[in-house]
Amino acid sequence: MPRTLDPELRRALVERIRFYNELGIYDFYGRESGSVSSGKHTAEIEVEKDQRELREQMTPRKATAIAMPIAVEENIFEVVAPKPEQGVSDPAKALKIIREDLGDCTRCVLHKQGRKQIVFGVGNPKAELMFVGEGPGADEDQQGEPFVGRAGQLLNNMIKAMGITREQVYIANIVKCRPPGNRTPEREECDTCSPFLMRQIAVIKPRVVVALGAVAAKTLLAMNASMMQLRGRFYDFKPTGAGDPDWDGCKLAVTYHPAFLLRDPRQKGEAWKDLQMVMRELGLKAPEKATQ
Ligand code: URA
Repeated sequence: MPRTLDPELRRALVERIRFYNELGIYDFYGRESGSVSSGKHTAEIEVEKDQRELREQMTPRKATAIAMPIAVEENIFEVVAPKPEQGVSDPAKALKIIREDLGDCTRCVLHKQGRKQIVFGVGNPKAELMFVGEGPGADEDQQGEPFVGRAGQLLNNMIKAMGITREQVYIANIVKCRPPGNRTPEREECDTCSPFLMRQIAVIKPRVVVALGAVAAKTLLAMNASMMQLRGRFYDFKPTGAGDPDWDGCKLAVTYHPAFLLRDPRQKGEAWKDLQMVMRELGLKAPEKATQ
C-alpha cells in the first residue's frame, strides 16, 4: 500500500537525494538503478525504455514508485552503513558473513509459521549463472537446501541439459523460509527477505540470473507483468546496494518455475527456449544427448 508522505518530509527527502546525487551516489534504490549504466548504446537505451514501459504497467508496484522517497530514505542508511561483507574479496567468505548477518531471522512472520530452518542458498560462490526460485518447500525446509524436491530434480535436469552441473551454479530463493502449506510468499515477506538475496547476488556477481517463475521475476525486477510479457528477453540487472563499482551488473532472464512445468509439461519447450537464450549468452553448448 502506498504511504502518503508529509509534503515537508517529501521535500526534505528530495533535497537529501539531490545532495547524495551531487556526491555521486545514485544507487539508493537498486531496482531503479538496475537499468542505469554509463556509455549506453542505442540498444541498451531501447531495453531500458522497454523496462520502463513494463514498469508503467505495474499495478501494486506503481504504489512502490509513488512511495519511492520512503524506500530511498530507508536505503540512505544502507549507504551510510556499509554492508559487513563489503570489501571482503573472497565471495565464499562474503556469503558466510551475509549468512551470519541473517542469523536466526525473525524479520517476517514466516519465522513463526512452522519453518524448520532457514534455506540460505547453495552452490558455487563464483557462479556465472544463478537460479532464483520462490521459496523453500517441505523438502527444502527439511534439508536446508533449495530445490531438492521434485521441482529441484527437474531444475537439475534443466541445468544438465544446458551442459553444466548443479555444483557450477548458485541456487537461492526470494524468501528463505518455507511459507506454510507452500503458499505463495506475501509481498511483504518478499520485500523483507529479498535484500539478503540481493546481497548474495552482489557478492557472487554472476553473468546471468535466471528468475524461476513470476514471484522471483516480479520481485527481482520490481515489475508487475505477466510471465508472457516477462519471458523471452534479457533485462539489465544490478542488485540493490551492490557495492563494487567495477561490476556493471548482469543479465536477468525469466523462465517458468519447475513446479509449474511439472504441472504443465507442455510448457517445457518454452522454458528450453529461455534456457537456450541464456546458454548463448554464456557460450554454453548443450551436450549431445540433452534431456529437456
Ligand atoms: N520451489 C522454490 O521456489 N524453491 C525451492 O527451493 C523449491 C521449490
